[in-house]
Amino acid sequence: MKQILRLKPIFQDKIWGGNRLNTVFGYTIPTETTGECWAISGHPGGDCRIENPEFAGETLGSLWNTRRDLFGSMQGDTFPLLIKIIDAKDDLSIQVHPDDAYANAHENGSLGKTECWYVLDCDPDATIVIGHNASTKEEMAQMIREDRWDELIRKIPVHKGDFFQIDPGCVHAIKGGTLILETQQSSDVTYRFYDYGRLQDGKPRQLHIAQSLDVTTVPFHADAPEQTVTTKDDATITHLVTCRYYSVYRAVVKGTAAFSWDKPFVNVSILSGEGTLDGTPVKKGDHLLICADYGDMTVSGDLEMIYSHV
Ligand code: ZN
Repeated sequence: MKQILRLKPIFQDKIWGGNRLNTVFGYTIPTETTGECWAISGHPGGDCRIENPEFAGETLGSLWNTRRDLFGSMQGDTFPLLIKIIDAKDDLSIQVHPDDAYANAHENGSLGKTECWYVLDCDPDATIVIGHNASTKEEMAQMIREDRWDELIRKIPVHKGDFFQIDPGCVHAIKGGTLILETQQSSDVTYRFYDYGRLQDGKPRQLHIAQSLDVTTVPFHADAPEQTVTTKDDATITHLVTCRYYSVYRAVVKGTAAFSWDKPFVNVSILSGEGTLDGTPVKKGDHLLICADYGDMTVSGDLEMIYSHV
């Protein structure tokens, strides 16, 4: 069976969001503070519609429930991955995510959250937060009590094309001026450590200091995945990461290249340019899902894409 699904993104307003999902990707966005495009999602918080006429009225979540054959008859209650584009005009809260075991026990059986970021664009002086400088949980708790956030958090410069893997227990924050493609487990469990004292509708957003301290890995270990680059036909493919939950790649095609897909499914996001996948036209901002046992595919055009599979 050769099936490609085309997904309709869902947009989420965020206090830190901006308008670059419109100005960079051309999406029609609901507000001038649109922070997230849920591009490939079967999550109940934003379940993408399938645009193929033969699946009219279906969502990724509903197909996962009724047409598991499209996903190689994989096990699991929910479509396991979630692909987002994040436009951070302002800083996101400093946060940490639990692993599967903690989320299952404390968040009604939810999945934990491992995520990774590919930096699509950023301001020249942009930074992100990854990790912290406390050597024990006691020291961390004390620094939080004393509001010594600048000392506690580990801020590093960020550049277009950078890639970061964020494991559960890793304190992190995307900072203002950054546009990111995120590949993550399909989970929305976030423990907010610190929100810069911001107000939403006149009130501070809820913090989760106790849970954050519970799940944070102390001390922090920097651990950057090793990347490998291969060339095949007219494609250059960078393997960005493989972890327990996903593998993520970036491919640049200038001409024609043969791909072969033998996974339960492959998420594809077109970051720039245009072309065809076995004759299906694709362009910047399109998000597609290549279904199970697709086999060989010819990709033509001048385009850049991120793709991922379990
Ligand atoms: Zn996060």
